[in-house]
Amino acid sequence: MQQLFYNSTRGQENHVTASYAITQGLAKDGGLFVPEFLPKLDVTLEALSQMTYQQVAYEVLKCFLTDFTEEELKHCIDHAYDHKFDTPEIAPLLKKGDAYYLELFHGSTIAFKDMALSILPYLMMTAAKKQNMTDEIVILTATSGDTGKAALAGFADVEGTQIIVFYPKDGVSPIQKQQMVTQKGKNTFVVGIEGNFDDAQNGVKEIFGDTAFAVEMAKNQKQFSSANSINIGRLVPQVAYYVYAYSRLLATGEIKANESINVSVPTGNFGNILAAYYAKSMGLPIDKLICASNDNKVLFDFLETGVYDRRRDFMLTISPSMDILISSNLERLIYQIAGGNAMETARLMTSLNTTGVYEITSVMKAALVDFYGGFASEDETKESIAKVYAETGYLMDPHTAVGQYVYETYKTATGDQTKTVVVSTASPFKFTASTMTSLSEEYAKYDDFELVKIMSDKSGISIPQAVLDVIEAPVLHTMTCDKTEMKSLVAKLLEMK
Ligand SMILES: *Cc1c(COP(=O)(O)O)cnc(C)c1O
Repeated sequence: MQQLFYNSTRGQENHVTASYAITQGLAKDGGLFVPEFLPKLDVTLEALSQMTYQQVAYEVLKCFLTDFTEEELKHCIDHAYDHKFDTPEIAPLLKKGDAYYLELFHGSTIAFKDMALSILPYLMMTAAKKQNMTDEIVILTATSGDTGKAALAGFADVEGTQIIVFYPKDGVSPIQKQQMVTQKGKNTFVVGIEGNFDDAQNGVKEIFGDTAFAVEMAKNQKQFSSANSINIGRLVPQVAYYVYAYSRLLATGEIKANESINVSVPTGNFGNILAAYYAKSMGLPIDKLICASNDNKVLFDFLETGVYDRRRDFMLTISPSMDILISSNLERLIYQIAGGNAMETARLMTSLNTTGVYEITSVMKAALVDFYGGFASEDETKESIAKVYAETGYLMDPHTAVGQYVYETYKTATGDQTKTVVVSTASPFKFTASTMTSLSEEYAKYDDFELVKIMSDKSGISIPQAVLDVIEAPVLHTMTCDKTEMKSLVAKLLEMK
């Protein structure tokens, strides 16, 4: 296997190993680490169709994390994808109607973030050891609702780490919030901020970019890293489930070898769909990458016009994990379609930072042909939940419903009959009120917690353990702060003199 190194999208840190990139999280110049080339799968699709999830994950991870040994990777994979998932398939693929739903919510926090965050702590600890790091790793994370809990679950009581999670105080679902504020573990901190997800993510990025703070941290034998999808160690494990989905379609005879499929991905920070793009680049026969947004449709507009413009109102929607106007991972795609031009990427990102807008060239825009952008309004999302439930009995959460709706609009607009995997990113039990009121307004009289049992009775799905665990658990985290106080709070939490 050819050694693969990583570069920063902004050009100041180059040719670093995967393990360095994972422990750093973000490059020192504020850029994101990207592979120097996109590797190819070195196993046939036929062979993949015979493999378990863990085996497929190994085939993908070994191509990207080339400074990890086989033993190290298998150790990480086996400890991540185990009985924490409620099915041995890890990521089951269900056919309902004419779509295939790739359910990525069978991990311990019942959203797709578990797919990467159950392995990230193992990758990070292995990487730290490889680099002879002795500093304590402080995971700083901004969350739009699901990353926070999944990262907390992954890093709680992991020796040599602390984790601080910032979530938008009024921008997550009641069950998402309950999951986070009841988190146990002496190394965990959960803070609600007065602000939205973009504020939380910007605050975290600012702390990462603060060199004086980094020096202070180093004096105290501490170093920051990230559990957000800006960390390449989060992105790479996500490539695996696209390969797995394809392998299942092949194994069950739903497609022929080398037949192309489409994927429809409910998108916020552009991590999940970028992983699909990487999977395609590895040689997986994916044709269209359907990028589905909610009312915060900055990505839809970008794909239409080539102009990325965040100067608009931030909307709170029933798919809160996609309430994002600054999609961090798009920077990796920009770098790619700019032909690896870091100076150009840095220029566009500076423009986004200072003016709120940038425009790509027509050559770059032409490189986006494989992406199809669409969006679903709140009503369209709710109608989609009701329609699929009525027609197939399948109950989708609002994020998945956005992906489903845009898949339908894509089919109508293009007539394309290619078999399509809709990425199902969360259990409906995380969003009981918005899901149930989509079926009928009669449920509006109940709160999110009361609706858990009602949803279970109606859908015939038993209440996930993750929900049972938090419903009556004591609240352990009540801290809040303004978006401007994040840095001083972090210093205080870490008790740095
Ligand atoms: C995070 C999240 C998304 C968006 O994924 P990105 O990688 O940020 O694009 C969609 N749905 C759910 C349920 C999520 O938690």
